[in-house]
Amino acid sequence: MLIGIDDTDSPQGMCTTYLGALLARSLIRDHMQVREARLVRLNPNVTWKTRGNAAVMLDVQGDPARAYTRACDLVDELADKSCENTNPGVVVTERKISPDFYYKAVTDFCTIDEAVALLTGAGARFKGWKNRRGLIGATAAVASDFADRTSEILVYRQPGRFGTPRLVNRDSLFAAEKATFPHTWDTVDTANDVVVCVPHTPDPVLFGIRGENPRWVMTARQMIRSEPPGIEQIWVTNQGTDAHLLPGTAGHLEELRSYYVPGTLTSAPVTRTGGHVAFVMKDGAFPVRCMAYEPTKTFRHVIRQLIPGDQVIAVGSFKKGSINLEKICIVALAPDRIVRPPVCPACNKRMTSNGKGKGYKCKKCDARATEPLVEILPRTLRPGWYEVPPTARRHLARPLCRGEPDFS
Ligand code: ATP
Repeated sequence: MLIGIDDTDSPQGMCTTYLGALLARSLIRDHMQVREARLVRLNPNVTWKTRGNAAVMLDVQGDPARAYTRACDLVDELADKSCENTNPGVVVTERKISPDFYYKAVTDFCTIDEAVALLTGAGARFKGWKNRRGLIGATAAVASDFADRTSEILVYRQPGRFGTPRLVNRDSLFAAEKATFPHTWDTVDTANDVVVCVPHTPDPVLFGIRGENPRWVMTARQMIRSEPPGIEQIWVTNQGTDAHLLPGTAGHLEELRSYYVPGTLTSAPVTRTGGHVAFVMKDGAFPVRCMAYEPTKTFRHVIRQLIPGDQVIAVGSFKKGSINLEKICIVALAPDRIVRPPVCPACNKRMTSNGKGKGYKCKKCDARATEPLVEILPRTLRPGWYEVPPTARRHLARPLCRGEPDFS
């Protein structure tokens, strides 16, 4: 059977993955076999999410009726149902549900009715609490089909420590990253000297290590010194796989979806209040604005070096009419030309313009010239892929250390 759970936490505490990890242990104690534990990230632009829009799936061999009761009991016991935005959902299905529902949930929006129709059709056991929205994520989790997969080990806290400051040795995190990167990533942000893998929210997670496979995340995990941990779970995930991206063209982008979009810059990047950098690119007739927000830090230095005429592939979510950049491919650089009035050959003084298209004149000797001086400046930027730093990375965004994207 496949068990899906979603929407059990609130900003005040809990975490659906923790509930999933507890359920896995409870089922194992009940002599069931847990074959896989999946952490499934869904559309990151869903506004009613608590944090990272995650749902969980357990692939279990055992008695479905008992597993369903145990899952529902655990949600009743632990989910923070007092929070308006916490609307848990539990699904237990013995029949596979079409992966199309997962594809839609990770790239687009689904309704509760769509989920319920699929669950009913599959003869699944399911329960939704309050407005039942968690059934969407729970159904997507059991329908999930990963074209690419990564691992994350989540180390949870001992319950008595929930809500207190976390004690994780900073040096051991940097050492773990150094020893295992690029097979693990986003433990720390070395360039910005920031720890990334330890949350600041009051949830049960102590830290999480992301990587290519269970072996690598365990290697890193074993190097980390911390307060005495509680339970630990290695998850199979779609994190770091770009599963949220759709091919897009400017002029045909839908709000709150994520895309890779080719284009040519029509305006030079400008830095706005708050340090956010914006430029406009065009694909055919349609312009689209791209944004590198302040938290993307050094990524903005790359963006600021772009000039009109540069060809790029912009990658990110389309929100309020802008692509919020997660990464960018510089496909071809335009020549950086400066056009200035020529120098008078007789006086060695720069001529002045007579107005647009009217040539140039030397103020001193009255010499005339028709053509301006065109200088080609060297570009320091190189074509290729650039990404936001680990501190600003979205869960689903594939880090470049996993290889360059192939959107062909
Ligand atoms: P948690 O740690 O509990 O997983 P979260 O940040 O993942 O927190 P949730 O509390 O799960 O957020 O809230 C997300 C809600 O959005 C869930 O009810 C889920 O069913 C729903 N949801 C997820 N993806 C979609 C989608 N594509 N369309 C519509 N609703 C969605």
